[in-house]
Amino acid sequence: MFQLFLPLNFLGFVYREIKASVANIERMFVLLDIETDVPDNATKGLNVTRGEVVFDRVGFDYGNGRQVLNELSFSVPAGKTLALVGGSGAGKSTITRLLFRFYDVASGQIRIDGQLITDVSQASLRQALGIVPQDTVLFNDTLRNNLLYACPDASEADLQDVVQMASLDRLVAENPAGLETVVGERGLKLSGGEKQRIAIARMLLKRPAIMVFDEATSSLDSETERSIMKEIRRVSEGHTALIIAHRLSTVVDADEIAVLENGQIAERGNHRELLAKNGRYAALWQAQQASGEVD
Ligand code: ATP
Repeated sequence: MFQLFLPLNFLGFVYREIKASVANIERMFVLLDIETDVPDNATKGLNVTRGEVVFDRVGFDYGNGRQVLNELSFSVPAGKTLALVGGSGAGKSTITRLLFRFYDVASGQIRIDGQLITDVSQASLRQALGIVPQDTVLFNDTLRNNLLYACPDASEADLQDVVQMASLDRLVAENPAGLETVVGERGLKLSGGEKQRIAIARMLLKRPAIMVFDEATSSLDSETERSIMKEIRRVSEGHTALIIAHRLSTVVDADEIAVLENGQIAERGNHRELLAKNGRYAALWQAQQASGEVD
């Protein structure tokens, strides 16, 4: 018994350690799989007053000689939603990585409420930013712990609130163990839409001033996609939000849409204005409609 107990206990310890380190890495490097070696010398914290994001003549390359962003300028006014669209490899995700400071810009500036993101501590920067990533990582743990892992001190009331806001209440109610239901590989398997809702709830628990939604590329059926977009619109209402969109059907209601091409903004406007321009956005829209991706 003792012999059996020790290894199991040890394994439990290792599992908890691994889980904690994964959680810490995720907490710090909100986007997965990305290493960062940017200096973090600033002692000053970011003071978010309104939540305005400005990219000012930003240039960037990954060090392989290929310019990914070229004098890129745009702003997301406080409380508004900007959707970034553009072909594969246009640099949409790169913009997110720069905003979170996984890399530093080669030229130009990124400012939040007038403060250079290089002048403030990374902890304060990432505290202000929340992301719903393309792929949600679930641990073999309870729904509760999966929701709380990035924000362990959240209150029960906050937890219940975000479960409602992200429309996870039905999932919780349908399972007899409720929030104590184990999910993940060895537990209840969740659908793509449910995983996205967990990511939304996790982000909401953090109460970030600025929300980034990296649209899931893994195919959600169009009904689920529509309902997730409805959720995103609802939870981002009144917040500054950046939506990285891979499908145009998801950006129709954004305050503004920016079309990225050759590392610059080729066009910007709302859906109606951009269709009327009959330019690149209209061409992308028609192409996606023809391929059946827009309904
Ligand atoms: P998609 O819609 O396919 O996700 P995207 O617009 O998000 O594309 P990015 O991921 O920002 O595009 O990539 C922009 C360019 O930078 C691409 O040419 C890509 O190959 C390149 N790139 C991205 N990440 C790296 C990296 N870590 N190292 C080198 N090049 C990279």
